[in-house]
Amino acid sequence: MTTAVSASPAASLFVLQVENLKTQFDTSAGVVRAVDGISFSLKRGEVMGLVGESGSGKSITGYSIMRAIDKPGRITEGHIKFCGRDNKIVDLVSLPERQMRDLRGNRVAMILQDPMMSLNPSLRIGTQLTETYLAHKKVSKQEARERAINVMQRVGIPDAERRLSAYPHEFSGGMRQRIAIAIALINEPDVIIADEPTTALDVTTQAQILFEVQKLSREFGTAWIWITHDLTIVAALAQNVAVMYAGKIVEYGSVASILDRPLHPYTKGLIASIPGHNSTLANKRLYQIPGNAPSLLSLPRGCPFRPRCAYADSTCLETPADTKLSENRFYRCWHPVETGAAL
Ligand code: SF4
Repeated sequence: MTTAVSASPAASLFVLQVENLKTQFDTSAGVVRAVDGISFSLKRGEVMGLVGESGSGKSITGYSIMRAIDKPGRITEGHIKFCGRDNKIVDLVSLPERQMRDLRGNRVAMILQDPMMSLNPSLRIGTQLTETYLAHKKVSKQEARERAINVMQRVGIPDAERRLSAYPHEFSGGMRQRIAIAIALINEPDVIIADEPTTALDVTTQAQILFEVQKLSREFGTAWIWITHDLTIVAALAQNVAVMYAGKIVEYGSVASILDRPLHPYTKGLIASIPGHNSTLANKRLYQIPGNAPSLLSLPRGCPFRPRCAYADSTCLETPADTKLSENRFYRCWHPVETGAAL
């Protein structure tokens, strides 16, 4: 593969541009197309929600961007164009591993749902923070220590200087997740991919972290991809949202437009499932999308949502293509739902 590196006036328009990305797993049971031709663009300082049920391909999208897909998985097609602060565009799909190592954790970082997956339990958190900084910056240990204290304070860890010498198990779950966010932030990356990082936290801690993320996004200009199954988090945090189903983005748009006027029946179902949502289903029992997400090894013919969809007809036996309404809005469905239509 050749490495695409270029500079262009358009470079500043996006920090990340994913084009027709495909990631598959070659298993003994068959080929699993976990990410199947997705495209989206992320601007500097933007927060994009990536929502969908388990197995929809959200996390694999994140790992694909990090180029951290383990065998038997592999990216088979597409581009992940990254434009950092130097305004040079590189394609992360074809970037040599040595250069990718320079970017990973430095310009593009990831926060996992369980902070203990990314924290080393046997190392003091001060060591983990400073080593992440020293791996990419030519600074003294003292400067790295000062930087570690600074990011810990920014993510709301009290008594940061003293707590540098503590081990991960000495912190609560919420504080550990703040440390994971501090590690992701320490090099001021251009993009952070957060994979359900607040799911296991109580509502108060979650709200505090979401508030900090918005503040940090404004202050650092960091763009976020916030992976979640929870649309209420997206409503509170993101400007745009991509809805994934069976490895594809089935609807994309601004959070306001998607919440006000969902067009894909799956998106409408996700919104109707939000407790207390003011929809046509208000005052009725909480809605649940019927059935389960399909196995990626045996997808139904045509639209993968067909067996669960109240609007399905024989047209849906053909795979729908993207319908683009504007630069920032598309959906993938033969029969987009009308506002107010019942599910
Ligand atoms: Fe439902 Fe058909 Fe639209 Fe698929 S294409 S979501 S089955 S109406």
